[in-house]
Amino acid sequence: MTKMIYPGQTIGIIGGGQLGRMMAVAAKEAGFKIAVLEPSMDSPCGQVADIRIVAQYNDATALEELAEVSDVITYEFENIDYEGLKRLTEIAYVPQGAELVRITQNRVTEKAAIVEAGCPVAPYVVAETYEELVAKIDEIGFPCVVKTARGGYDGKGQQLLKIKEDLPLAEALFAHSVCIAEGFVPFTKEISVIVQRNGNGETFCLPVGENIHVHHILHETIVPARIAEQTAAQAEQEAAKIADHLELVGTLAVEMFVLEDGGIVINELAPRPHNSGHYSIEACNISQFTQHIRAVCGWPLRKPKLWSPSIMVNVLGQHVVPLTNSISKYPDWSVHLYGKAEAKVNRKMGHVTIMTDDLNTTLKQIKDSGIWPE
Ligand code: AMP
Repeated sequence: MTKMIYPGQTIGIIGGGQLGRMMAVAAKEAGFKIAVLEPSMDSPCGQVADIRIVAQYNDATALEELAEVSDVITYEFENIDYEGLKRLTEIAYVPQGAELVRITQNRVTEKAAIVEAGCPVAPYVVAETYEELVAKIDEIGFPCVVKTARGGYDGKGQQLLKIKEDLPLAEALFAHSVCIAEGFVPFTKEISVIVQRNGNGETFCLPVGENIHVHHILHETIVPARIAEQTAAQAEQEAAKIADHLELVGTLAVEMFVLEDGGIVINELAPRPHNSGHYSIEACNISQFTQHIRAVCGWPLRKPKLWSPSIMVNVLGQHVVPLTNSISKYPDWSVHLYGKAEAKVNRKMGHVTIMTDDLNTTLKQIKDSGIWPE
């Protein structure tokens, strides 16, 4: 049942990271109150929340407390305990449900759902053991990528196998979980579509972003993606198909590969606002965070519109000092820092969004700034 949540009521967020913080900031603009469940005291979201519950994400008492103080509950990351979330759906209003988290927590169920939605994925096999992988790998051939079904992110928990002799490199992955092996996709670009849907089935996609990774971590998102119009249209259609199939409420980020011929292969899903959608805060008439809040609060969604081509660059621990020293040089850069105390190497500390009429000149400006050495 879709319910409308009004300003003055409280939105509970599981997870206190930057995604929760940006959701909270968007919600506070409309006058909502925020409660956050997060084990650390001084979290990015905790800093802007009205109520902080400091406990583990799967702590039953803490979840009950969150249910007590919240009129609606959402989450900012997918690796929450499924059973805990499911119990929460019984005692609180969780319009996103728990099913989406169950499906996207595991590459096996995630891939099956994408296929059931009628969307293209790379050929793949599921292997419970290394021996099963060895027995099945010829169905996929080489090169291929072996990924743990659970717990991988930013390139962790995966192994590229170029030739048959590389197989033993994948053996260690099975210590973590069941694995899938999928054909290596000779992509020309990586793109993502943020699709958002409310309980009434209203569905909108943000403009397609082109993602550039460095050492498996998102470095830049360029919008609009530099791909053919037809490819962009197909990308949005595929994302909407998945959203409908999953009866999405809230936000789903769909990561995709673009092939030489303009075709698309779906890589993976994230059931939450996504790093590659941060540009929407400045560059669109609605940010992914505001739209997410509208979706979970049962409000009508707004059709996204891009004000200007844009580039979003991530600020990792090693980039913070050079960036803050350069603020006076770049009045057009929107600087976002998430309030994390410790600037560890490769930790996501913030991002910069630049709206520009000339992507190439701005890409060069970013490079020449020296803040992000290769
Ligand atoms: P993932 O954790 O699945 O997003 O993978 C991390 C990165 O590894 C992707 O962004 C791609 O750059 C690369 N990758 C993953 N799967 C494949 C594949 N099947 N073929 C080629 N590259 C891949």
